[in-house]
Amino acid sequence: LCVEHPLGKGQTVPLDRDQAHYLFGVMRQTTGAAIALFNGRDGEWQAEVIEAGKRGGVLLCRDRSKPQGAPADVWLLFAPIKKARTDFIVEKAAEMGAARILPVQTDFTNAERIRRDRLQAHAVEAAEQCGNTYVAEVDDLTRLDRLLSDWPDDRRLMFCDEALAETDAAQNGLTGAPRGPWAILIGPEGGFSPAERTRLRSLPFAHSVQLGPRILRADTAAVAALALWQAALGD
Ligand code: SAM
Repeated sequence: LCVEHPLGKGQTVPLDRDQAHYLFGVMRQTTGAAIALFNGRDGEWQAEVIEAGKRGGVLLCRDRSKPQGAPADVWLLFAPIKKARTDFIVEKAAEMGAARILPVQTDFTNAERIRRDRLQAHAVEAAEQCGNTYVAEVDDLTRLDRLLSDWPDDRRLMFCDEALAETDAAQNGLTGAPRGPWAILIGPEGGFSPAERTRLRSLPFAHSVQLGPRILRADTAAVAALALWQAALGD
């Protein structure tokens, strides 16, 4: 369970109404049950339920079961698509350990807004599911050109482009690319506009990458790109 509260030996952790509903209502836990807790800072702790109620409860931290882990130093930038597919992308990127997930508005992005809180909740659930000790941070929808104009000096960009010519695909990619901070960029259903593609290809920190010869749906491409990054550059 992900909580805000500090965790440490003998520390008591109050639960809010939603957490109590989840643990005692949905998961049917009661007093005495052992629950794994993390807060993104103090590692994972085994805690015992010492009070269980409808509107709240209290847990007591016993022992640390995992040290604090670090996310992979990779961000996922993606153009939001249909709701269920956007949820899928956030869930899978969080499972794969991405540090930050940034929904971006590109020339051909249809979404005008996103529910950041909903997507962040999916990232929390994914972390709980995978036993991660940190949660990917989900940003608000930002225009891609704004992000690119203010790009951090040390971070490279894996620009996933299905339209690389065969010769470009052979020359580009991740072969020989350095480790360190990276971000992956996945476009919307309609792909990138010609102007975006020209700009992205000219950026000194961008590496154009083809994810095989087939055109993948954006949600599949996001998972494939994260797996490729992990295999080539992940730790
Ligand atoms: N413009 C394309 C079209 O409509 O035919 C499709 C774009 S694809 C559905 C969505 C995004 O997934 C692309 O912008 C790209 O970032 C990524 N993608 C899909 N297949 C890819 C591939 N084979 N190589 C690299 N990126 C790919």
